[in-house]
Amino acid sequence: MSTEALRLVWVYPDLLSTYGDRGNLLIMARRADLRGLPVECHEVRSDQPVPTGGDIYLIGGGEDGPQALAAQRLIADGGFQGAARRGAVIFAVCAGYQLLGSSFFAKGARCTGLELMDLQSDRGETRAVGELAGPIDPALGLPPLTGFENHGGRTHLGPGAKPLVTVQVGVGNDGRTEGAWAGNMLGTYAHGPALARNPAIADLLIKWATGETLEPLDDTWPDKLRNERLTAIGTR
Ligand code: GLN
Repeated sequence: MSTEALRLVWVYPDLLSTYGDRGNLLIMARRADLRGLPVECHEVRSDQPVPTGGDIYLIGGGEDGPQALAAQRLIADGGFQGAARRGAVIFAVCAGYQLLGSSFFAKGARCTGLELMDLQSDRGETRAVGELAGPIDPALGLPPLTGFENHGGRTHLGPGAKPLVTVQVGVGNDGRTEGAWAGNMLGTYAHGPALARNPAIADLLIKWATGETLEPLDDTWPDKLRNERLTAIGTR
């Protein structure tokens, strides 16, 4: 096992942290720590350069104004895109997920995205607010996703991005699929506590970053919560 610390980089908590995105950082750090992996957490504010040497980058949800500002600052800085292009692991939620694509809508205007994933987002006619659930792409070997969504945009995937989830409850990208993954990047509309509710995704990201097979942890409580939510929202 490598003794070098796993470097977690939380991008722009001052702009993109509307829904408790810190929880995703904490879950990731904790699950690495429980496997004996040393971890370093870096929080990069939007007036600071994004370091390119991180192992896992987290970018969270946000309202339209901060989302558009984040896009401008990330494009001007280039560090995040540099890290993604060298193969760093990226976990992106909602506004952060839309930012990975070629364009998105904020405050009625089309904005340029980071062009890291083959997707683009349009305005929806309604806001998608509520529970979100469905089976995850079997290629990833994960239990079904459950989460909470709150977004106005709709996301369209190109052939270079695979849908993360087939939607059973909620809207996600477009009412049929939710989120996307490609290479070491994974995006979702599931909010703030996405990794608390879906810790197997945190393990997948750590595995992508380290190349190591992780020992299973006792996930009795997250498993109970997932089963309770899936029953409550009528998927089983
Ligand atoms: N501003 C974006 C939208 O409404 C993203 C919202 C969010 O991160 N919740 O589509």
